[in-house]
Amino acid sequence: MLDGERSAFALCRPPGHHAGKDYLGGYSYLNNAAISAEAAIAAGRARIAILDVDYHHGNGTQDIFYERGDVAYASIHADPSTDYPFFWGHADEGGAGEGEGATLNLPVPRGSDWRAYEPALGRALEWIASFGPAALIISYGADTFAGDPISHFELDTRDYSPMARRIASLDLPTLIVMEGGYAVEALGQNVAEFLSGF
Ligand SMILES: [Zn+2]
Repeated sequence: MLDGERSAFALCRPPGHHAGKDYLGGYSYLNNAAISAEAAIAAGRARIAILDVDYHHGNGTQDIFYERGDVAYASIHADPSTDYPFFWGHADEGGAGEGEGATLNLPVPRGSDWRAYEPALGRALEWIASFGPAALIISYGADTFAGDPISHFELDTRDYSPMARRIASLDLPTLIVMEGGYAVEALGQNVAEFLSGF
């Protein structure tokens, strides 16, 4: 992506978005999205946005950039009052210090389907556009899928294509980083739908 490609896909496991600077968590050891954002900043990009569409809030990513104004973090996720990571990702967490206003948390309730999810995505995309990033990093988790064994949203395989199309409409250089997704039989198709939609 830094060499001028429109997009790239990082097919990495385990996920990374629960890992902070000095801790692991939620199957995550290395925060791939955060490492990528740092690499982009080091390569001279002034502002990077991270959009996290995994079922779970990316507490590690938020924590790493919470007081930074050059990396914006937006996340759509299960309400942390009912779901892991429980103590992070509430709507009133918006950043601090130089990062004040550069974090956006959009928790949505358990049982949400694409119709309930899409307005939050619209809000996140508007917010990212107004931040004016040079590039976008997507933390893509397919654990929003209805058949996911540890999660409680109701997205269908066919919903990942319009989700990705809406994200692509930002028209930014975009790195898509694989996060969660535990319905193993459906995971390949859910990823393929997202990538082809993008
Ligand atoms: Zn997850």
